[in-house]
Amino acid sequence: MSSQIIPVEPFDYVVFGGTGDLAERKLIPALYHRQIAGQLTEPTRIIGASRTPMTDDEYRQFARNALKEHLKAAEYSEDEVASFCARVHYVSVDAKSPDGWSKLKSLLDEGKDLVRVFYLAVSPSLFGDIADKIRDFKLITKATRIVVEKPIGRDLASAQILNDTIGKVFKEEQIFRIDHYLGKETVQNLMALRFANALYEPLWNSAHIDHVQITVAESVGLEGRVSYYDKAGALRDMVQNHILQLLCLVAMEAPNSMDAESVRDEKLKVLRSLKPITPANIEKLTVRGQYKAGASAGGPVKGYTEELGGPSDTETFVAIKAEIANWRWAGVPFYLRTGKRLAARVSEIVVAFKPIPHSIFDEAAGRIEANMLVIRLQPDEGVKQWLMIKDPGPGGMRLRHVSLDMSFAQAFDARNADAYERLLMDVIRSNQTLFMRRDEVEAAWKWVDPILNGWEDTGQKTQGYTAGTWGPSQAIALIERDGRTWHEAD
Ligand code: NAP
Repeated sequence: MSSQIIPVEPFDYVVFGGTGDLAERKLIPALYHRQIAGQLTEPTRIIGASRTPMTDDEYRQFARNALKEHLKAAEYSEDEVASFCARVHYVSVDAKSPDGWSKLKSLLDEGKDLVRVFYLAVSPSLFGDIADKIRDFKLITKATRIVVEKPIGRDLASAQILNDTIGKVFKEEQIFRIDHYLGKETVQNLMALRFANALYEPLWNSAHIDHVQITVAESVGLEGRVSYYDKAGALRDMVQNHILQLLCLVAMEAPNSMDAESVRDEKLKVLRSLKPITPANIEKLTVRGQYKAGASAGGPVKGYTEELGGPSDTETFVAIKAEIANWRWAGVPFYLRTGKRLAARVSEIVVAFKPIPHSIFDEAAGRIEANMLVIRLQPDEGVKQWLMIKDPGPGGMRLRHVSLDMSFAQAFDARNADAYERLLMDVIRSNQTLFMRRDEVEAAWKWVDPILNGWEDTGQKTQGYTAGTWGPSQAIALIERDGRTWHEAD
C-alpha cells in the first residue's frame, strides 16, 4: 500500500540561509523528494538567499552536490535532478544591508500570484532584520508564509522578544514555527492510534497507565555546533521543544478535530498543566549530566570539555520526572531523558500500563510483565504493543512477553519520507496543525525557565557519565527510586 500524493499549488520557496547546513542536508533533498513524488506543480521555484555571491548556475551546482551527497544512489536520477535544478535560483542578500533585496523583489514579482514562503534557515539573531526587509521591500502577498527554525529564544523573555519581532511583520496564521519531530510518521501515528481506535482511549489515563517514558538519545557529540550548544545545553536544545511536544501529543485530550487551532489548544492545556519544578524539589526531580571520554561507535571519543577546548558545566544530558496536574494524569510520572554520546541513537515514547490486579497462573507460568506500548521515532520508525501470550505447544501454561510489531517500513510499501518533506508541504497547504503556536512555545518556556533558574540558584552541577553509556547513575536512580526502570531499546 503506498500513500496518496496530492499535488500542491505552485510556490516560490525562498530559503534564507540557502548555502547553510540545514538547506543542504534537509531542505533541498526534501523538496527534491516531493518533486519525484509528483507533488510539485509548475511554475514552482526554489530560491536560495544568503550573502555568498553566487550565480544561479553555481547555486544549482550546490543543490546538485547536496543531492548527490544526501540521497541514496537509487533516488538520484540525472533527468529528475536536471528538472529540479531548473527550478532553482539564487540571490545574494545580506540580512543586515539593503544590498540585493531589489533583485529578490524583481524575481519574486515574476511569481506574484504563487504561494510564497520565506524559510529562515539562519541564526535567530537575523530574524528581525530579515522580517523588516521583507516588510520594507513589500515582499508580502496574500499567500505569504514564514517558517522559523528552533531555537525560539533561550528563555521566556527572549522568546517573547523574538515572537514580537516576527509578529510585527507577520500575522500568527502566517507564522510556521517548525519542530521537525512533529513531522515524523510515528508521531502522527500516535494521534491515529489514540484517536482512530476505540481500543486505547478508555485505558489512556491514570487508572490504567503506570507511567510514560520519553527518550531522545543521540550517540553523537558536539558535531561542530560548539558555540551554540555550550550556551544552550540539553534542556534548551531538546526538552523545551521536541520532548515537550511529544509529551503534549501523548497527554492531550482529544481535540474536536484535526484543525490546527483545536489540536494546539489541547497541547497548550497540557503545557499549562505541567507541575512546576521548584528549588525545593529540583534535585529530586532532575539530573544534569555531562559526558566524559569513553567509546562511541566502536572507537574512543573525547569528553565534552576536551571537545569544547575549555571548562564548562553545560549539561549534555538531562533526565526529569515530570507530572501533569489534571484529572487524566494525576499521579502518573512522565520520565523524560535526552543526551549526547549515549549508548545508542534512539527516540521513543514508552507508555507503560499497570500490572494485572491478580494472577490466576501458578509460578511455572513465569513472570507476568505489564503491557507496554512503544512508539519508536528513530531509527526504524514503528509501534510495538507488548502483550503476554501463552508459549506455543504442549507442556502446560507458560507465558511469554511478546510484541505485536508494526514496523512501518515493512508494513507499507512506502519510502519512509523525511519529516521535513511533510512539513514543507504543510506550509504550502497552509496547515499549521504540526507547527507550534506562539502561546505553546511560551508556555513551554514558562515551565523550563524555573528549572534553568533552579539549577543556578541551587548550584546543581552536572554529573559525569562515560561516553557510550546511558547517562549518569543518578538518572537511573531517578526512576529506580520509584520501583521502575528505563526501557532498554531493543
Ligand atoms: P549554517 O550552516 O551556519 O548556515 C547559516 C546560513 O545563514 C548560511 O547559509 C549563511 O550563508 C547564512 N547567513 C549568515 N549570515 C547571514 C546574513 N547576514 N544575511 C543572509 N544570510 C546569512 O546554519 P544551519 O545549521 O543551516 O542552521 C540555520 C538555522 O537553523 C539555525 O538557527 C539553526 O539553529 C537552525 N537549525 C538547524 C538544524 C540543522 O540540522 N542544521 C536543525 C534545526 C535547526 P552566507 O554565509 O552565505 O551568508
